[in-house]
Amino acid sequence: MTRTPDQTAPSRALHVITWGCQMNVYDSARMGDVLRPLGYQPVDTPDTADMIILNTCHIRDRAAEKVFSELGRLRLIKEARKAEGQQTIIAVAGCVAQAEGQEILARAPYVDIVLGPQTYHRLPEMVARAARAGNAVIETDFPTEQKFDFLPEAEAPQTPGNYTAFLTIQEGCDKFCSFCVVPYTRGAESSRSVQSVLAEARRMAQSGVREISLLGQNVNAYHGEGPDGTVWDLTRLAYALAEIPGLSRIRYTTSHPRDMNDALIAAHRDLPELMPFLHLPVQSGSDRILRAMNRGHTADEYRDLVHRLRAAKPDLALSSDFIIGHPGETDEDFEATMQLVRDVGFALAYSFKYSPRPGTPAAGAPLQVPEDVKDARLQALQKLLREQQDAFNASMVGKTVPVLFTGKGRKPGQIAGRSPWLQPVHVIGPDRLIGQTVPVRITERLTNSLGGILEEENVYA
Ligand code: SAM
Ligand code: SF4
Repeated sequence: MTRTPDQTAPSRALHVITWGCQMNVYDSARMGDVLRPLGYQPVDTPDTADMIILNTCHIRDRAAEKVFSELGRLRLIKEARKAEGQQTIIAVAGCVAQAEGQEILARAPYVDIVLGPQTYHRLPEMVARAARAGNAVIETDFPTEQKFDFLPEAEAPQTPGNYTAFLTIQEGCDKFCSFCVVPYTRGAESSRSVQSVLAEARRMAQSGVREISLLGQNVNAYHGEGPDGTVWDLTRLAYALAEIPGLSRIRYTTSHPRDMNDALIAAHRDLPELMPFLHLPVQSGSDRILRAMNRGHTADEYRDLVHRLRAAKPDLALSSDFIIGHPGETDEDFEATMQLVRDVGFALAYSFKYSPRPGTPAAGAPLQVPEDVKDARLQALQKLLREQQDAFNASMVGKTVPVLFTGKGRKPGQIAGRSPWLQPVHVIGPDRLIGQTVPVRITERLTNSLGGILEEENVYA
C-alpha cells in the first residue's frame, strides 16, 4: 500500500535514536517514511522534536536499564517543552519494547507509544490514538499482516550513504539458539516478497545506490514469494538483483551456517556482483557448546563449509561472531574455539561475553561461567582475532583492488570508499570519482583503514 503525503499536514519535528544492528538502522529509516505523510521531518537533536522515537536493541547486557536511563533524559526534555506549551510524543520501539512493553509503561508512564518491530507500519494510527486517548498505546503483537505490505515506498537511499544502502529482506528467526532473544522479540521467520524487494532495490539504484546490503536475522534462509507464485531463495534473488542497472555490488548479512547451500556457494563463484566477504557467525568452536547452544552444526561442519566456500571463491574473506562463556564452557571448550579461529583465519570478527537474556534457555542453565574467567578468555580470543585482522589488512598492501568511492575523506583532497572486503580505503583523488568503482593500488595499512593511490582513472562501473 502506498500513502501519498498529506500536503495539509502541519510540519512537525521527528528525532529517532537508533541502537543496535543494521536492521534497526533500516527500521528507523522506515519509521521516518511512515510518519512523513503526517508532516514529520527528521531533526538531529531531541530538544526541539515533537516526536522522539527510541529504537532499542535487546541483544546484550543491561539492555532494559540503558533504555530506562535514556528515557529519564527524554522525560526532562518532554517536561521542559511542556512548560513552554509544547507537546512531545515519546515512542519506544524495537526489541526492548517488544520484550518489556508493560514494564516500560509501568516504570516510565510519560512514554506515549510502545511498539514492537513488527508493528511500525501502524505508527500513524498509534500517534492518532495516543493524541486522542491521552493515554499510552502499546502494540507488541505479531500482526497477521506483513508490515512490508503496508509500508509506504522507502525513501531511497537508506543509510549509510548515497551509494550504499541497507535493504531488509527477511526478519525473525525459528532457530531458537539457547542464548538469543531474537525469536521472541522479532518473531517467527518471514521473508518479503521478491517483487517488493526488487522494487525497492530499483528505486535505490535509480537514486544512485551502487552497493546494496541485504539484511535479515537469517538472511540466507530467505524464501520470498516470487512473481510467478513460486518460492525464491537468496541465490535466485541475488541473480535478479544483479540484473538491476547500476547495482554493482551485493552483500548479505547475517547468514547462518546451516542455511548456506551449494547454490549460494556456487553464486559466490559465478556472480561477480556478490562481494567476496561473508559474515558467517560460528559462536563457538566446541561441539559440546555448539550443541548446548542449539546451533545445529559441529565445528568440523563449519570448517568444511569454509573449505567449500574458499574452493569456490579463493579470495573470499570471512567474518564471524563469537560468544565467550556460554554456560558450561570449560577451558577445553574455549581452547577448541581458539583452534577453530586458528584453522579458519578471519578477516574480521565480533566477540562478546555471554550475557543471560531473561526468558532464553541458557539464562537459567547451570554452570554459569564466572565473569573473571569470561574476561580472560575474551581477551585472549580478541588478541588472536586482532592479529588475524591485521594480517589480512596487511596482505592487501601492494595489491590493486576495486574501490567504490562513497564520499570525501577526512583530509583535504582525499576521497574515501570501501574495498570488496568492506575495508575503508582512501586516496588523494577528484570528487568526480565519488559514486564510482575504481582500481586502487593499496600502499599502506593504517589502524582501521587502507591508504592507496589511483591506479588509473579507468572506471570499472
Ligand atoms: N542470526 C545471527 C546468527 O545466528 O549468527 C546472529 C544474530 S544476533 C542478533 C547477533 C550476535 O549477537 C550473535 O551472533 C551473538 O554472537 C550475539 N549474541 C546474541 N545473544 C547474545 C547473548 N545472550 N550474549 C552475548 N552475545 C549474544
Ligand atoms: Fe538468534 Fe541467530 Fe540463533 Fe536465530 S540463529 S536464535 S537470530 S543467534
